[in-house]
Amino acid sequence: MEISKITPVLKAYLWGGKKLNEYGKQSAGPIAESWEFSLHSDGLCRSRGKTLLSLLEQENFRSLGEGIRPENTPIIKFIHAAQPLSVQVHPLPEKGGKNELWIVLEAEPGSFIYCGEKSPETEQETDESVENILCRLRKIPVKKGDTYFIPAGTVHAMGQGLTVLEIQQFSNCTYRLFDYGRTDANGRSRPLHWSQAQEAYRDGKQQPVAVPFFRVRKEEIKSSRFLPPQKTFSTITVTEGKGIAGSLALRKGDTLFIPCQTPVMLNGNFEAVFVSPEKETRTGGKQPR
Ligand SMILES: [Zn+2]
Repeated sequence: MEISKITPVLKAYLWGGKKLNEYGKQSAGPIAESWEFSLHSDGLCRSRGKTLLSLLEQENFRSLGEGIRPENTPIIKFIHAAQPLSVQVHPLPEKGGKNELWIVLEAEPGSFIYCGEKSPETEQETDESVENILCRLRKIPVKKGDTYFIPAGTVHAMGQGLTVLEIQQFSNCTYRLFDYGRTDANGRSRPLHWSQAQEAYRDGKQQPVAVPFFRVRKEEIKSSRFLPPQKTFSTITVTEGKGIAGSLALRKGDTLFIPCQTPVMLNGNFEAVFVSPEKETRTGGKQPR
């Protein structure tokens, strides 16, 4: 495969808004999430009219890098919470769940997240009823530029007024504990999954250390920057400004797929988040002339 601009998958969950329009995402209704990179069947990103997954399948996933399969790839999303997200927990990766990383791109005054508990390791902690988990949640004020790692098994929620880039493992499994009593346009409430959530919460306590799963870095490009070929694929998501990657124009909100062993020259003035699988190592390519 070549370096490709990715066509995202937009999700119109009930807590979305209009903010992602500013990131080039267009839809008649509100947008909650824009899946910028995903080989997951719940949201297959596209390129040149085909799904990225089918393009990669045609070449036996060679562009991902040696030993990298779709299930080793991240899902990368822009998320805008016009309303708070449900209080939720994800099971451990070995049980089909995920770790998540949030990079806060914008935060309205007073924004916060819930993540984990106020005072872990206390005796009260043994009470695992949903009510008790909810009232022990730690509320963290957040601002633009903050980054949070949400290990699988951690009860968490995004408050309203936040725009986030989320990098997470290959899973779309979420157990909801609390949804503020909300209903959709048809008057239906979304299901809660208390017993599964309690199990994920217990598993999370027994495995307090999460292993690294992706390499993520945020960088400001000023004028030009050469990216040498890598052993694995990588992605670039532009969060501010504009520029050019090879011959492709880039602007705020765009995501690029860079196949393994592919050098790229970046030009312009922009801020971007670079993601690659943890196995990445440089292969010592030379700068093109
Ligand atoms: Zn989550």
